[in-house]
Amino acid sequence: MDPTEARSAVHDLLSRMVADRLVVGSAGNASVRIDETTIVVSAGGRAVHHLSPDDHPVVDLATGGATGGLAPTSELALHLAVMRAFPEVGAVVHTHSPYAAGWSVARLDLDFVCNENIGPAGERILVTDPYAPPGTAALAEATVATLRRQPGSRACLLANHGPLAVGPTPEVAYTVAQQVEWIAQVTFVARSVGHVHVIPPADQDAIGTTYGFTVARVTDHR
Ligand SMILES: [Zn+2]
Repeated sequence: MDPTEARSAVHDLLSRMVADRLVVGSAGNASVRIDETTIVVSAGGRAVHHLSPDDHPVVDLATGGATGGLAPTSELALHLAVMRAFPEVGAVVHTHSPYAAGWSVARLDLDFVCNENIGPAGERILVTDPYAPPGTAALAEATVATLRRQPGSRACLLANHGPLAVGPTPEVAYTVAQQVEWIAQVTFVARSVGHVHVIPPADQDAIGTTYGFTVARVTDHR
C-alpha cells in the first residue's frame, strides 16, 4: 500500500469509528501498514473532523520516528508494538466502544457465543493483565502478550479502556472492531435475560471449518 492510500485508509477508519459511535471526541486511533518498515498512524489529540488524510504521519517501525503530518496518537507505542510483533497484521483499530469497554472495566473475557465471533477468530476475547495506563510502553507490552496468549486471535480488550482489533487489511480490522462490540452487547443482553450459553469448542471448530479459519485458543492456561 502506498503512503497516500494508507493515510486515506487511516482517515476512513477514524471517520467510521465516530459515525458508528465506537468513540467520542478525539478518542480512538488506527494504523495501517505501508510495507515491512513503515506504517501510517493516526494523528493525535484532534477529532477527525478537524483532520485531513495528510495530517496522519508516516512512522518508521524500527525507530518510531514520524515524518509528515501532525504528531502521532498518544498510543503510538501500542501501534508500533503490535505491528512489530505481528508482521501479518496490516491494520490496527483501537476504539472505546461502550459495551466492549464495559467488559474491559469488569475485566471479563468475552466468550465464543455467536456468529460475530468469526471475526475475532479466538475462543475468547481476552482482557490485558495487568492493567496499564493509556499511552504507556507497559500497555503496548501487555497487549502484545495478550494477543500472543491466543495465537491467531484478532482482538483483545485493554483493561479499563477498550477493545483493540487487528486484521490483514483496514476493512477486516474495522469489521472485527465492530464485531467485538456486537459480541459484548449480545453477551450483556444474554446475561440480563438468562444464562450465557457458550458454543462448545467442537462446534466452534465446525464454524471455523465452514468459514475457513482456525479458532485461536489460549496456549498458556495460567
Ligand atoms: Zn484508547
